[in-house]
Amino acid sequence: METLKYDLIILGSGLAGLSAAIHASTISKGKIKIAIVTKLHAMRSHSVSAEGGLSGVLYGKDNKDSLTLHAYDTIKGSDYLADQDAVEVLVNGAPQEIKFYEHLGVPWNRTEDNKISQRPFGGMTIPRTAFAADKTGFFLMRALYDTVLKSENIDIFHEHYATSLIMDKNRFNGMFTMDIASGEKKLLLGNAGIIATGGAARTYKLTTTAYSSTGDGIALAYRAGLPLKNMEFVQFHPTSLVPTGVLITEAARGEGGYLLNSKGERFMSAYAPSKMELAPRDIISRAIITEIEAGRGLVHEESGMSHVLLDLTHLDHKKISEKLPMIKEICIKTLGLDPDNDPIPVRPAAHFTMGGIHSNINGQVMSGPSGPAMANLWTAGECGCVSVHGANRLGSNSLSQCSVWGRITGIGAATYLMKKDISKYDESFSMKFAQGEEERINGILEFDGKNNPYDIRESMQETMDLNMGVYRDRIGMAKAKKELQVLQEKFKDIYVEDKNDVYNTNLRDVLEIGNLLDLSQVIAEGAIARNESRGSHALRENPKRDDKNWMKHTIAMNINGKIQLSYANVKVTKWQPEERKY
Ligand SMILES: Cc1cc2nc3c(=O)[nH]c(=O)nc-3n(C[C@H](O)[C@H](O)[C@H](O)COP(=O)(O)OP(=O)(O)OC[C@H]3O[C@@H](n4cnc5c(N)ncnc54)[C@H](O)[C@@H]3O)c2cc1C
Repeated sequence: METLKYDLIILGSGLAGLSAAIHASTISKGKIKIAIVTKLHAMRSHSVSAEGGLSGVLYGKDNKDSLTLHAYDTIKGSDYLADQDAVEVLVNGAPQEIKFYEHLGVPWNRTEDNKISQRPFGGMTIPRTAFAADKTGFFLMRALYDTVLKSENIDIFHEHYATSLIMDKNRFNGMFTMDIASGEKKLLLGNAGIIATGGAARTYKLTTTAYSSTGDGIALAYRAGLPLKNMEFVQFHPTSLVPTGVLITEAARGEGGYLLNSKGERFMSAYAPSKMELAPRDIISRAIITEIEAGRGLVHEESGMSHVLLDLTHLDHKKISEKLPMIKEICIKTLGLDPDNDPIPVRPAAHFTMGGIHSNINGQVMSGPSGPAMANLWTAGECGCVSVHGANRLGSNSLSQCSVWGRITGIGAATYLMKKDISKYDESFSMKFAQGEEERINGILEFDGKNNPYDIRESMQETMDLNMGVYRDRIGMAKAKKELQVLQEKFKDIYVEDKNDVYNTNLRDVLEIGNLLDLSQVIAEGAIARNESRGSHALRENPKRDDKNWMKHTIAMNINGKIQLSYANVKVTKWQPEERKY
């Protein structure tokens, strides 16, 4: 086993991880040695698939926008579960990020008078989503990756899978990794760490996310005894393509698309008359399922999936080609359907993890429900929960969050590392841990039990789709909990078919399935306990929000292998909770 030593280790090379690396490098003037560990090639990180854009107030004087309005929209969108001080950090920081990307060469779409174009997005009062056609994530990632490549103090470990964090009395020491190409194990030691491993929507079967969105960093933190926050809040994006789940960006509605039921009605008028198709995602997803349940949906012939229609046929074809080229391409290539001429079949699919690793406003990972924050470990991006999205994220606020907390955590970690008297990683403790971890991974490789891990994954995802979806009820959630327990038991007796070292994606999948199972249980446990409806958690038996008893964050910890829930206060600064009407 090779041992490598760094000042800062960043786990994840999406928008949050790369952004953190660049700002840590810049603030330290290239003096700290940084490792980026990523299970994919960095440019295949899920951020490349972000489509619609990044929110931020740019021209407030011209379009009557303001930071206060962006904050209000976000807090209302969150169903009052966002921490309001953190939301202010998000909206204050977002404009700077758009300009930063502009300086790195991102080709933002522009208006005729050469301003950065901003399109409308769900739940936003003013069009404030900057975009590069419908390939925003790709352009942002390209700009960041090119910048990272120019930095001599940053090493990237592409296709290295982290199996464990090495923690010693609330101090981060490094991580244990496996080179997927060769199977070689590596111990990475670091005096500080940033976890930026993205979301966990692969806990569900129908999802807009990549196969890699398996919540590894969240599960690693949970297993290391660190608290998770608000995991029951899973965002369902209203418009995933039927039957694959590929995302049809909200920008399609931002550019004027209609949602129609089987009667050809724009049904959103019954659910959000003032915002219509640009209501927040939780509301539209519920509206779609309600329409389907009321018999006003359509059925996809091949898959039998019920759905509604997203109609772009009334839009100028030039607009579709210029602003939604990828959507057009996806529809033509995967369905043989041209959105210029035919409406697109869509339904809600799991899309985003609102919860994640419990952190403070600086992105520092908390050691317990109420702290203290860890001195040398941060989290950024979708895997962290600051929390700015609360119970429901507004579209385009994630790329802002990744960028703002990428910067904050990168600067925070570098500033910490440049202090003289920091405590250093404990090499002998870490070596001992790594030996144990190597044995554990080699042991998994030898698994020769009777259960197929892929069947377990399939059952887990089906259970989550069926019982932990857009609407939840007590019987379904209890069923999910039981089923997940059975699957955990079965997972103890699986086989790993591929016993080789080289590109053993079978072994990697097994590790990911283990992570997904743990997180599914945490999602279910938090949801069962939350006796109200808020944002993405819609409980049939209790459809009202209950601020008196439930305006609080759920904290989940792993205590001796059992999930222990507790609660933390939501920070309210200026905006008192009110009924959410759109
Ligand atoms: C299809 C789609 C479109 C979207 N469009 C938008 C949009 O337009 N605007 C918006 O605001 N949001 C959008 N979102 C959400 C947004 O894209 C994501 O929340 C965001 O990109 C997440 O970035 P991240 O840096 O946190 O993680 P990711 O980009 O997911 O990167 C995670 C990184 O962690 C690494 N990693 C994970 N586990 C391990 C491990 N065990 N070992 C080593 N490395 C590991 C991966 O290799 C990867 O580099 C979209 C989401 C989807 C699914």
